[in-house]
Amino acid sequence: MKSGEELYKYVEKRLKQELQSRQMRLTGERKQMLEFMVQSKANVFSIAALMDMAKAQNITYNTVKDFICLMEELGMVMPVNNVGKTFLGSNYQLMIDSRSKENIVEICDICGKQIQTKSVHVRRALKTIYFPKFKPTHYTMYIHGICQGCAKDIKQKQNKTK
Ligand SMILES: [Zn+2]
Repeated sequence: MKSGEELYKYVEKRLKQELQSRQMRLTGERKQMLEFMVQSKANVFSIAALMDMAKAQNITYNTVKDFICLMEELGMVMPVNNVGKTFLGSNYQLMIDSRSKENIVEICDICGKQIQTKSVHVRRALKTIYFPKFKPTHYTMYIHGICQGCAKDIKQKQNKTK
């Protein structure tokens, strides 16, 4: 599991490499936006909130939009339930490890903790799926739920109210 700071460094390194290969730089503005994404709960953020942060830092709307488009192209962010929404009304998720071949992440919806799954059953099951007219090369899968720690907390709270 990666802590916030570790995670930031990890994602920043990846983004830097991608930018360099396009003769682009990781500017201070891009860094600030990336930090915002990493700090968001479960790495899901709304464009509206990102814009609020950006405005306060004198980052323009176009800079934000260009950055999100670029990140999406790089497979580093993914839209979350945005059908029929405007850009400003939409949500995105920062993708972790999206380039490794088998990436199955368990994500806790309460505390936002993300860990690579230890379940061999999921990996095995995915290998048995047949895709007609398509050859999968790699995948990222997020399994949402509640982590052990949070499950324990909930149980303790329930016991107290009994
Ligand atoms: Zn949790």
